[in-house]
Amino acid sequence: MSTSLTSLTIADARAQLGDRSISARELAESHIAAIEASRALNAFVSETADRAIADAARADVRLAKGDAGVLEGIPVAIKDLFCTKGVLSTAGSHILNGFVPAYESTVTANMWREGAVMLGKTNMDEFAMGSSNETSYYGPVLNPWRRPGDNRDLVPGGSSGGSAAAVAAQLCLGATGTDTGGSIRQPAAFTGTVGLKPTYGRCSRWGIVAFASSLDQAGPMTRTVGDAAIMLKAMAGHDAKDSTSVDVAVPDYESVLEKSVKGLRIGIPAEYRIDGTPAEIVALWDSGIAWLKDAGAEIVAVSLPHTKYALPAYYIVAPAEASSNLARYDGVRYGLRVDQGDLTEMYETTRAAGFGAEVKRRILIGTYVLSAGYYDAYYLQAQKVRTLIADDFKQAWQKVDVLLTPTTPEPAFGVGEKSDDPVAMYLNDILTVPANMAGLPALSLPAGLSSQGLPLGLQVVGRAFDEETVLRVGRALERAAAFDGRPAPWWRSN
Ligand code: GLN
Repeated sequence: MSTSLTSLTIADARAQLGDRSISARELAESHIAAIEASRALNAFVSETADRAIADAARADVRLAKGDAGVLEGIPVAIKDLFCTKGVLSTAGSHILNGFVPAYESTVTANMWREGAVMLGKTNMDEFAMGSSNETSYYGPVLNPWRRPGDNRDLVPGGSSGGSAAAVAAQLCLGATGTDTGGSIRQPAAFTGTVGLKPTYGRCSRWGIVAFASSLDQAGPMTRTVGDAAIMLKAMAGHDAKDSTSVDVAVPDYESVLEKSVKGLRIGIPAEYRIDGTPAEIVALWDSGIAWLKDAGAEIVAVSLPHTKYALPAYYIVAPAEASSNLARYDGVRYGLRVDQGDLTEMYETTRAAGFGAEVKRRILIGTYVLSAGYYDAYYLQAQKVRTLIADDFKQAWQKVDVLLTPTTPEPAFGVGEKSDDPVAMYLNDILTVPANMAGLPALSLPAGLSSQGLPLGLQVVGRAFDEETVLRVGRALERAAAFDGRPAPWWRSN
């Protein structure tokens, strides 16, 4: 099977499927072979080869009839947080042991309607809590990237690390992720791929296992900005089943991609220049500024004064919502059940056995900040801070059209390096969390390599529901950065 089929972009694959120079079946088969040869990465919890072949056969019929959807015949991977009908859906947790949903999430249903081919479900941090993919019950995902000349395993970022690794290692043409505090953008930055967190409300959350409902948002993970535009079109849309999904038209994102950024105002927030940021990340940011300036954009210094409170407020709001959302896992309705003693004891032993350490930490923090004595001091205060953060962005939009920042404060780190230090782990989200707190769309794209040869990402944040400008600026940066790094395939078994 030719490996070149797995290196296509979605846009190129679509063109070749369209003129019948390749079939959806051969495209699916080459990806299935790549996945089987790449188990060392541990990117998948479930591989669904038979399903992929069946989907591809259907796509080939529709392609032959000239009846193709937006993703017709495109092989994709799905983060295991999305419920998929008839296919094991684990959220990376032991507590969902054996859970096979009887329904399909809206986002994935939209993708299947548009002809996408499902290759499998990707590994992830347990309940999407983490920045390194080390909290999964199914074991860590490895980053396809290593430092040249150094065999140590690196994390792919989290929580959508399986999806990011699968896209970077050319095991799928695109994958879904979810982003509550950075889980699409941070793994994209760590693996040299593109990740887009849409505006809160752009994609339906229905059928996605809930972590922090006021922050969670699904989005595409791809190898190019253009592919993110194509995938988002298929994923997005109003859904009556999610009351926070917003009833606005889904634009044709692709059509604006190549539009010049001339005259656009790009904000550079002073507060994102955090002390201790490595010089190479600051230098990459400066390159991004220069590229956009050269392309005719106007660079404007802005201030988002409450930025430093975003991370602490996030780590109150997100665990609070998680502790409430995770109350449903009681051994009665889903997955794991450890039968012991009376009903209360059964709940306790099931939850003790079913949740991992990070999830338990979040439940404890969340329950604490919501408790009667501390609610005002923590939860209410964090909600007020959240409003101030959103107001900072509103002020900025008076002066600029998008913001440009780095995505992460560092490149991918080693497996095990931060697992004993939750605060060090949480600090990885410092540049991504504010966009979640304000519900804004934000894109990460690979823009260069670190001195150690690892990918680094730049982030573009935009106004609510203005993914078009975010993608357009992302495309301009992609063109200028001309990032073409690929990890050497050390993980392949053949
Ligand atoms: N790393 C962050 C957390 O652990 C964000 C996770 C996410 O976006 N799902 O909460």
